[in-house]
Amino acid sequence: NLYNMVQDLKGNIRVYCRIRPAFGDRTSNVIDYIGDDGSLVISDPLKPQKDGKKVFQFNRVFGPTATQDEVFMDTQPLIRSVMDGYNVCIFAYGQTGSGKTYTMSGPSGRSTKDMGINYLALSDLFQIFVFLTMHKLEIRSCTGENGLSLPDAKMHSVNSTADVLNLMKLGEANRVVSSTALNNRSSRSHSILTVHVHGKDVSGSTLHSCLHLVDLAGSERVDKSEVTGDRLKEAQYINKSLSCLGDVITALAQKNSHIPYRNSKLTLLLQDSLGGHAKTLMFAHLSPEGDSFGETISTLKFAQRVS
Ligand code: ADP
Ligand code: MG
Repeated sequence: NLYNMVQDLKGNIRVYCRIRPAFGDRTSNVIDYIGDDGSLVISDPLKPQKDGKKVFQFNRVFGPTATQDEVFMDTQPLIRSVMDGYNVCIFAYGQTGSGKTYTMSGPSGRSTKDMGINYLALSDLFQIFVFLTMHKLEIRSCTGENGLSLPDAKMHSVNSTADVLNLMKLGEANRVVSSTALNNRSSRSHSILTVHVHGKDVSGSTLHSCLHLVDLAGSERVDKSEVTGDRLKEAQYINKSLSCLGDVITALAQKNSHIPYRNSKLTLLLQDSLGGHAKTLMFAHLSPEGDSFGETISTLKFAQRVS
């Protein structure tokens, strides 16, 4: 179809930026300009003059008023390419509190209003036979060198959007339960929802492709003076897996001959959905408040590096 032809011309890696609404009105807002063409200008709250402005370019930028449906509309063609046999990987990247879970799952709570990409994608793909697995990649439970066993991963077959919703709630509950053991744990783990699509395409040949929907651990740098022991190891592990992910996507974007998949469990796990016959979309999430400026810059640099 036309979308895939355009995608093939442009390459298989796209980066969208999404800015959540500001909390309260006490701190300054760093967002200066959002262009329809994917440009974004932010300003350093400590340098309000011209030299404090920085310009970035993405495939698209969603401002604070963008709705879940608008975001999904621009994601749906990519998701549907799973039906054409492509493996697809969608990531939410950004500091804790920047809106990753909102984009992927929706607002917390029981409401089925404003559901995120996970739910909208599954509902959309439901005309066909779909298997759904819920992987919970627990960073702390990583053992062994290749580390590919996922003790918490379970494969479920689903028959309706209600099944999907229940399964997602179960996954989120597991993530929250472990967060009580260690402060704010849900932001310290990656959550991966994998959809396996099996079937026959229009020409009768067998189709087996997968869609990974990934809500990454918060990208903020942990202050080493504040954490020790297991907590420090965990923080270092997360930083490493995120930087490995950046390295892999950068190598793919530059069409390097060597892609360093083996440097982290996360990239090893997602290998067949990154590069090759796969399409990748990263959402770079931003918190607009002035006091998040440092993290905002590092998220933008990460996103710029892979786009
Ligand atoms: P993260 O997963 O990156 O830590 P969350 O998705 O939990 O961040 O978002 C933090 C808070 O901001 C949540 O209360 C969430 O509902 C809210 N929020 C995030 N993005 C939006 C948005 N685009 N519109 C409205 N509320 C949002
Ligand atoms: Mg979250």
